[in-house]
Amino acid sequence: MAVVEVDKLGGVCLNRGCIPSKALIASAALYRKIKEGTGFGINLSTPPVCDWLAMRARKDKIVDGLVRGIGQLFKSHGVDHYPGFGRISGTNQVTVVDENGNETKLQADNIIIATGSRAINIPAFPVDGKRILNSDHLLELENLPRSMLIIGAGVIGCEWACMLSMLDVEVTVVEMLDHALPMEDEDTSKLMERELKKLKVGLHTGTKVESITPGEEGISAKLSNDKTVEANQVLVAVGRAFNTDGLGLEEVGIESNDNGSIKTGLDMRTNIGNIFAIGDVRGQILLAYTAVHDGSVAVDNALGGKVERNYLGVPSVIFTHPEVASVGMREAEAAEKHEISIGRFPLRALGKAHAENEISGEVKIIGDKKTDKVLGVHIVGAHATEIIHTAALAVNRGLTVTELGSLVFGHPVISESIMEAAHDVHRMSVHLARKK
Ligand code: NAD
Repeated sequence: MAVVEVDKLGGVCLNRGCIPSKALIASAALYRKIKEGTGFGINLSTPPVCDWLAMRARKDKIVDGLVRGIGQLFKSHGVDHYPGFGRISGTNQVTVVDENGNETKLQADNIIIATGSRAINIPAFPVDGKRILNSDHLLELENLPRSMLIIGAGVIGCEWACMLSMLDVEVTVVEMLDHALPMEDEDTSKLMERELKKLKVGLHTGTKVESITPGEEGISAKLSNDKTVEANQVLVAVGRAFNTDGLGLEEVGIESNDNGSIKTGLDMRTNIGNIFAIGDVRGQILLAYTAVHDGSVAVDNALGGKVERNYLGVPSVIFTHPEVASVGMREAEAAEKHEISIGRFPLRALGKAHAENEISGEVKIIGDKKTDKVLGVHIVGAHATEIIHTAALAVNRGLTVTELGSLVFGHPVISESIMEAAHDVHRMSVHLARKK
């Protein structure tokens, strides 16, 4: 077993994505919480000071430790690590070129392509790493800008908008679609928009950035709604491109999709039976955790199994402030296919949310009126990314709303909001005023 990697072990998730951004978000959230200290009965003699370089150093330490951990795991599991760029030079061969230009040819019964994706580059917004940035650059900022324009209110755009505004950066977000987080349930998007407003983030939806020109202290952006935004820096967060350049796909005849991602079946096989592709490079769902699932499907099949990927009940988890998480169908999608019934529970009706001073948001559950099956669960609120997994299990296992709501939840916990929203689907939540 061999792994070829041209960069540090751990890929985008560990080095430039999930882990470093969540380390910084934890710093930003704590900074915000400390500022709320007086409300908790904690008086500070001086206001807290945000030390960006110390936050960055903490993030680097976490990442370095985890990267080293992967190297140790490789050793303990007998995986050989070949540093360098891998090109598929035959259906059973990978050629590795290391940083000194030395070539090694590896023979393999099976090959798994797991090369991932990178931030997309749009010619209209040429990323230079100084004024126009992508999320990789943000992680390495020398200092925090006074103001930031973010193009795209998708996952990265909204996570960074919340984080930067919690760190006192003046943030403006421009999204060409009608809502922030347009891939989520419309109610979630609306709640998120309200939360962005509370964080004083300027949001322009249904708007495009027409042009960016260098300004006095950064840039000046002309928007399609005739407004102009001045900012020190711009973050371009408009999606990802697939890492297939130089992989040798054409030479061995591996088929691609129109958007440049690699075509596979549900068993992760490409059109060449012993070559598999997993994760972002398949262009289906761009998430580290579905990539891990893809990987286990590919390995099972490479070893003679017959397994297909199953994304039923895979949650979406977004680390905004407050957090957003969802599983299953959005309301619009569910209403097209089913007769639905909706239950909601606002976090402000929950004791634990008051204890934590995190009362924003709600849990929304969409049930099938005929079968009572849980079709979708959408959460905006504190710990949403943790508590969603109860709902994910319900969707994955085809549980009914009644079954989900009949579990006796601990108390006081934020997860109770799932039980209450399930009760509300049948108008049976005792902790909500009776609806007429
Ligand atoms: P995205 O697809 O989530 O969002 C991009 C947004 O940019 C969309 O809303 C789109 O409408 C908008 N957009 C595109 N072109 C635009 C333009 N010219 N002007 C204004 N708006 C424009 O992509 P992303 O935020 O770059 O994230 C990339 C990937 O990484 C996603 O697939 C995401 O799922 C993944 N990711 C996941 C997490 C998480 O799970 N917590 C965190 C970060 C990234």
